[in-house]
Amino acid sequence: MKIVVLTGAGISAESGVPTFRDADGLWEGHRVEDVASPDAFDLQPSVVHRFYDARRAAIAGVAPNPAHLALARLEERLGDDLLVVTQNIDDLHERAGSTRIVHMHGELRSALCRACRTRTPWTDDLGDYPPCPRCGVSELRPDVVWFGEVPYEMDRIFEALYEADLFVAIGTSGVVYPAAAFVQFAAGGGARSVELNLVASDVSGDFDESRAGPAGQLVPAWVDEVLAGEL
Ligand SMILES: [Zn+2]
Repeated sequence: MKIVVLTGAGISAESGVPTFRDADGLWEGHRVEDVASPDAFDLQPSVVHRFYDARRAAIAGVAPNPAHLALARLEERLGDDLLVVTQNIDDLHERAGSTRIVHMHGELRSALCRACRTRTPWTDDLGDYPPCPRCGVSELRPDVVWFGEVPYEMDRIFEALYEADLFVAIGTSGVVYPAAAFVQFAAGGGARSVELNLVASDVSGDFDESRAGPAGQLVPAWVDEVLAGEL
């Protein structure tokens, strides 16, 4: 059985990944949307770097939860028949042991050179304008997909969705795209679909099955069912 899993913010939230939003929805007086765009980076690169440097530093203090660990356990059994597509830019899936993973929105622990386009694993700050290890130019930016930019590896994602027997969306409440597009595409290829989310989402009706509850409980139970051959 080929499975594609999409994970969103809900699975990271249960590990305590900070959102960096004040009670009024702002970060240091900026709307988050206003520090997550190419225009913002051109206008105020130091502000954008400070935002992502803080987020990069923060994920060092969190750990994968049972949902991440269960997906790694599923990959151990399924190998190439499982692909995890995540909207999250943290590395909790990797730290749980997953290796077949697509970060469609990029990664905090990666730097993208605006001069030579090289992507480099990166755990330090970028706000002090270090040189690119490849070309030496100090044009590194966070390797995250900003508003108005194209997500990574969409061809690979849609190919996997088309070949999938089962599509599972985890923790993507409130984000109609891409979950809605993915579930319809997977269904077009003949896949069943399951939603595992804290609460029923706006697109729950598009799924064959929807379960509500914490990912840390739902995902291990669902993985147990798959491994027992019950799905
Ligand atoms: Zn470079």
